[in-house]
Amino acid sequence: MRIHILGSGSEGNALVIESDRQRVMVDAGFGIRELSRRLQLVDVAPDTVTGLIVTHEHQDHVRGAGAAARKYRWPVYATAGTVRSDSAKRDERRAMAPGPAEGSLPVSLAIEPPAAKRSTKRRVAKHVVDTHTEVLLDDFAIRFIKAPHDAREPVSLVATVRSTGERIGIAYDVGHISERFIRHFGDLDVLILESNHDERMLATGPYPWPLKQRVAGPNGHLGNAEAGIMARACAHGRLRHLVLCHLSQVNNRPEIALKAMRGALRGSAFRGTLMAAPQDRPITIGPPDQIELGL
Ligand SMILES: [Zn+2]
Ligand SMILES: [Zn+2]
Repeated sequence: MRIHILGSGSEGNALVIESDRQRVMVDAGFGIRELSRRLQLVDVAPDTVTGLIVTHEHQDHVRGAGAAARKYRWPVYATAGTVRSDSAKRDERRAMAPGPAEGSLPVSLAIEPPAAKRSTKRRVAKHVVDTHTEVLLDDFAIRFIKAPHDAREPVSLVATVRSTGERIGIAYDVGHISERFIRHFGDLDVLILESNHDERMLATGPYPWPLKQRVAGPNGHLGNAEAGIMARACAHGRLRHLVLCHLSQVNNRPEIALKAMRGALRGSAFRGTLMAAPQDRPITIGPPDQIELGL
């Protein structure tokens, strides 16, 4: 199992989870050109990706989703609330700007093109998922977990590779943690966890007061301290990789987040690797490609 994090932060989030048999994309928060460029950097051909999971409708998670899903024929998996928010935005746009306004679609999934273009544009297969049933996508079994965040129906998720039993947890855009939330992330091999802000940097930083409140609030983003509490609860001997993600470029630094996390994990059973996912470039987690010597 490998994970290609194409980039993570408020400017865009996208990652590919990969087993020996299948690749699935989670979020597509970069424009399609940038998304394609980053996929190429990690040597993933878009047509080898068999589906796109969208965690919620915020721009940094869906910027390229509609265009990429259409171009590469990726079926989209999202909650009813996330799909609905897309339709609501589309209706709003139509009402505000009648006519061919499609070039200015900045935010939404744009899963279906506007009526005027419908005849010439490819439709995207949408699959509504919920937090009650596990979704089976060939080699992956995906469990969706309700996330406390200020979107319509946001989710975190745990993906199990059915052929190997390996488990990947993805928890970002999470306003606060609870015992109930954490319980879903036990027994993982890889945890990708939001560590958005240093609490003191956010409090004393340049954000306007309402934005500070939103980020630190119960439906905002997870700070370094809370990420530490969650990681400690999930950090058992099996966990091989802990990746901090969605770091704020204003209210955090990788070295600060990593230091806080090392402190939180001191004395725990965790013996895996700890890293922070950058915004500006992809990283790959997991074993390297088998190199054939060609002898
Ligand atoms: Zn969000
Ligand atoms: Zn986000």
